[in-house]
Amino acid sequence: MQTVTIGNVQITPVLDAAVLMNPLTFIPGHGEDVAREFAHQADERGLLPMAITTYLVRSEGKTLLVDSGLGARKRPGFPQGHLDDALAAVGVGPEEIDVVLNTHLHIDHVGWNTVPGEDGRPRIFFPNATFVFQQREWDFWMTPEYLADPRHPHLAECVQPVADAGRVTLHPDTETAFDTNITFIASPGHTPGHVAIGIASAGERALIVGDASHHPVHVQHPDWSPGIDLDPVLSARSREALLDRAIAEESIWAAGHWPFPGMGRILRLEGKRVFRAL
Ligand SMILES: [Zn+2]
Repeated sequence: MQTVTIGNVQITPVLDAAVLMNPLTFIPGHGEDVAREFAHQADERGLLPMAITTYLVRSEGKTLLVDSGLGARKRPGFPQGHLDDALAAVGVGPEEIDVVLNTHLHIDHVGWNTVPGEDGRPRIFFPNATFVFQQREWDFWMTPEYLADPRHPHLAECVQPVADAGRVTLHPDTETAFDTNITFIASPGHTPGHVAIGIASAGERALIVGDASHHPVHVQHPDWSPGIDLDPVLSARSREALLDRAIAEESIWAAGHWPFPGMGRILRLEGKRVFRAL
């Protein structure tokens, strides 16, 4: 997919990995409804296509990466990421990334912050980047307990090393500007400090929603929260607010787990929300 222009900002979706989702386990309570609605997309095992997409954003002369995918390490239950090759395919080297914006601190969003170095220790993959996290998200995950928890190896491997290198900027957990074009939008529920990235330039807008929505089924059913949301009631509220904001602001919608590239417009037609892919 080609670059999308939002005023003076360019957004290029970059695929780290295609993944498959079992609706029966992913969306508890509504899995069979999802399976029925999306049966036309299911493979022979009933699995639905999803993606792990990052978004390259060019704003004010800087090159930003929104989320950094699964990474080069093979994680249980996930394929290995290929963001290195995908960035090369769009002509961007890791040294060109000025800022990595992490919507939250899950394993499939911070993966390429580091790669295993030749000495076995994590090496920062984007040698010139600063890494921006939300304060609330940081405070929730970066505790001694979670850092030592074998279920969250990415915190020690992909997050702590960039902090140790002095590359981390913590952003307040409110609707605050990153630069003249980019705003962090608090959208808690999936994780406590989850943020969406709002882009506004020259009268045009986009919303990169992170894991506020994992699948297009949420357009009509924002309350069908995935089991991985830490607070499924709050996540549903954040999700619906972002969908309605996208309609009201006529924003381009970018959802990194929707089938690649996950970009389009949310419209209201005859009283119903619908998604029109770009
Ligand atoms: Zn995710």
